[in-house]
Amino acid sequence: MKQRFDIVIVGGGVTGLTTAALLACGPQGNRLDITLVDAAERPRFSPDEDIAIRVSAVSTGSANILDTIGAWQHVREARHSPYESMCVWDENDTPDGAATLRFDAADFAVPQLGFIVENVLMQDALLRRLDGSDVALRFASRIRSLGQSGRQYRVDFDDGESLLADLLVGADGARSFVRSALGIETNKWPYDQTALVTHLRPERPHRATAWQRFLREGPLGILPLADGRVSVVWSTTPEISNRALEASDEVLGRMLTEASDGVLGELEVAGPRGAFPLAAQHAKRYVLPGAALIGDAAHAIHPLAGQGANLGLQDAAELARVIDTALEQGLHPADLPVLRRYERARKGANATMLHFMTGLNRLFATDSRFVGELRAAGMRVFNRSGPLRERAVKVALGVG
Ligand SMILES: Cc1cc2nc3c(=O)[nH]c(=O)nc-3n(C[C@H](O)[C@H](O)[C@H](O)COP(=O)(O)OP(=O)(O)OC[C@H]3O[C@@H](n4cnc5c(N)ncnc54)[C@H](O)[C@@H]3O)c2cc1C
Repeated sequence: MKQRFDIVIVGGGVTGLTTAALLACGPQGNRLDITLVDAAERPRFSPDEDIAIRVSAVSTGSANILDTIGAWQHVREARHSPYESMCVWDENDTPDGAATLRFDAADFAVPQLGFIVENVLMQDALLRRLDGSDVALRFASRIRSLGQSGRQYRVDFDDGESLLADLLVGADGARSFVRSALGIETNKWPYDQTALVTHLRPERPHRATAWQRFLREGPLGILPLADGRVSVVWSTTPEISNRALEASDEVLGRMLTEASDGVLGELEVAGPRGAFPLAAQHAKRYVLPGAALIGDAAHAIHPLAGQGANLGLQDAAELARVIDTALEQGLHPADLPVLRRYERARKGANATMLHFMTGLNRLFATDSRFVGELRAAGMRVFNRSGPLRERAVKVALGVG
């Protein structure tokens, strides 16, 4: 088996796979020896299986990135749920109140605001593209240690095998082994919230709308699924989340109907449950000579606006662009000045989104009546301001 690669990507989540596919399909693809490794088994999608519990709101900008590498077509043909409207309201208000934020695709002359897609389907679509490429895929391979051999990184696996990489890309998620082995520190902001995720059958149609109700304990997101069900991401205290995990289907249905203020009538539990502890974190640096972090390995943010995977895809697109340009210019893509171009392009943008989400979460998670009134006034002003609304929608579409 080959031992030395130009690029070793650690992590076969959406971010790592997109980077591999962009590089392989890009203008310099035939000049690069790339391998992608992941500790888990190869993810598999089957349209005969139920909609997976992990879904993401994917922006139009992200869908475009997947489209450039021919992966979006498979997603579209398999199953996805375009959403045309967004409705965001505060627990002291109602979904049709004056301070409720509403966005409709038609107002911005676009067919949809985004798509709800299963993470495993995006991975499957990307893997189909990679199967026909020269990228060597290595699943069920956990990294045991990382060392340096001259200018290269040496990646040692549990099974005793090793690889050498000119450029090591850490795409191994929020608890990144690569990040800690490289000694890159992070800034952390714990939320003291856990996200409970499940699918529900609503009494009333979801109307292709992504709903979000801000509760004092954290936001409740309700995303429309292709088969009429909805996926909920309920960010709440660890205690409430534990109670919800252990409750019977009937009790959990009642808890979520109440938390959603009955916006879709009675909600009936119609899927498995999962819980994800939430924290924001940001790597203090994204790059070192011969190494780069992307996706959740570099930044993890609150799921309240469904931006984590979208930011990861933008990182992937930028890193691939920087590597292609460097090769065109005769530069070595693993050199620090080259990798710094990627860091400069993405770190500030990711920090802005991360702090905005953290601030938004805090703004709504307050007991203060004064802050509550100010917030409602702000939302009313926002509703009447064309430029502000347009800017927010551009960010949500991933084109801003
Ligand atoms: C409840 C919830 C809801 C969300 N909703 C949305 C949403 O609507 N929209 C959105 O854009 N984002 C959403 N996100 C965020 C999104 O899921 C993540 O940002 C995204 O999945 C990160 O992708 P990634 O590829 O960077 O990392 P991951 O998906 O975490 O992938 C990392 C990969 O690395 C592998 N790995 C880990 N360690 C090792 C190792 N030592 N050796 C080898 N391989 C390793 C893992 O097996 C895994 O496959 C949500 C997150 C949560 C928790």
